[in-house]
Amino acid sequence: MKRLSIRFKITLWFSIMLIAITAVIIGVILYINSEVLKKDIQGELITVVEDNIDEIEYYNLVQDASPDGDGDYYIEYNGGFLEIDDDFLDTVNGNYTALYFYDGTLVYGENPAWSETSDIYFEDSKVRTVKGSSDTYYIYDRKLDREGLEGLWLRGIVSSQSGVSRLNSIIKMLLLVLPAFVIVAIAGGYIIAVRILKPINYISEAASEICEGNDLKKRIELENGKDELHRLADAINSMIGRLYKSFEAEKRFSSDASHELRTPVSVISAQCEYTLEKPRTVDEYTQALTVVRRQADKMNKMISQMLEFTRLETNSDRYEKNKVDFSELIKLTCLDFQYIKEKNISLESSVEEGISVCGNYELLTRLVSNLLSNAYRYGKENGHIKVTLTSVGDEVRLSVADDGIGIANEDKEKIFDRFYQADKSRSGSGTGLGLSLVKEIAEFHAGRVTVESEPGKGSIFSYYMKKCEKR
Ligand code: ADP
Repeated sequence: MKRLSIRFKITLWFSIMLIAITAVIIGVILYINSEVLKKDIQGELITVVEDNIDEIEYYNLVQDASPDGDGDYYIEYNGGFLEIDDDFLDTVNGNYTALYFYDGTLVYGENPAWSETSDIYFEDSKVRTVKGSSDTYYIYDRKLDREGLEGLWLRGIVSSQSGVSRLNSIIKMLLLVLPAFVIVAIAGGYIIAVRILKPINYISEAASEICEGNDLKKRIELENGKDELHRLADAINSMIGRLYKSFEAEKRFSSDASHELRTPVSVISAQCEYTLEKPRTVDEYTQALTVVRRQADKMNKMISQMLEFTRLETNSDRYEKNKVDFSELIKLTCLDFQYIKEKNISLESSVEEGISVCGNYELLTRLVSNLLSNAYRYGKENGHIKVTLTSVGDEVRLSVADDGIGIANEDKEKIFDRFYQADKSRSGSGTGLGLSLVKEIAEFHAGRVTVESEPGKGSIFSYYMKKCEKR
């Protein structure tokens, strides 16, 4: 049973129930019908016998009788005559009526097939069921007590099977119509089951294809609809989407790690090899260790930034979005940078008060810090940095302007790519990941980053995002 398909199980269950219900219905209908039929047969028997009573008269002399038709029948009886009117129905619709003497002697009429019932005692005005050797009969007796008719009994008799032909036609109809309905219902149910379950087949085939082909870009595509199966397909699709993102991020992480970490590792290795070639002075060792430390710091920074990327790409849910006082965040970050005495650069800020955004505090701080670090790193000696926060319509605009080395036109697009550095010799401890992380954070907040720059004059990086709705 466990190996049967759901489609087959549904159809089987449906069919068994339908056949059982149909059998019960047929049974109930037949029972009710046979009961009604029984009452009908007995009622007709009583009517025939009662009607026939009035068709029998007794006369002392034949000439007293007033024949009203040629078919009247006369029998000598009790010193006089019995007149059986021609309206006397001795056989009608399977009902036989016969006149008996009280000792069971047949006086008039016939009892063709059921002579076996003639020795049954008489009982007045009561329908009885009598079992014969091959049939069951209903018998109805009436005692005739009018003058001259004493000692006579009228017996009506009918086979209980006399209505069977009527019942048979009902059974035939039921046996034809109901199974036809059952077959149509089962076929319909099967077709519906097939149609309902078709998407499941499709989903499992697509899932296996994705698994076998390792193609996480593929998605389960169903025709339009909003039922449970479509929701299941959506859930599987979003699961595959997340898996795809994770695998891609992992792949990128491994390839970035192996590619980008190779340079600092080579530098460290070369530096160590060179230093260990012969005994060195303390100054030489110090110099070598400084290089090693700088490269190690760079690797450390690179790894933590790469991890941050991976987390943002694969598990952005862990970064909750809340109402953030952006003005305050910028003021605090600027305050932290104020103490950097690098290149004697001065930092000035103009922050519009009370601007709130809906975002993640940690990520937004990282975005502002990255822009500020770059402004210092690529700023000129005794240069200036200006941070401005203003609201523009329903957006906020944060700009970080410096008067440093600037960026060539052909580099403006590329600097947001991972590990791209316009001028490696001037990027110092930079990793080439800062701006791509800024771009990723901006996208996470449905914002955007732009850059305006002129080589030798400086750059302005601007970040735009929606303001928080007033609550
Ligand atoms: P890095 O760690 O090298 O600074 P980023 O992704 O932060 O990496 O920046 C990428 C490149 O963009 C830098 O190497 C640099 O060439 C250029 N860049 C970024 N910010 C500035 C700036 N304020 N002025 C001039 N060039 C910049």
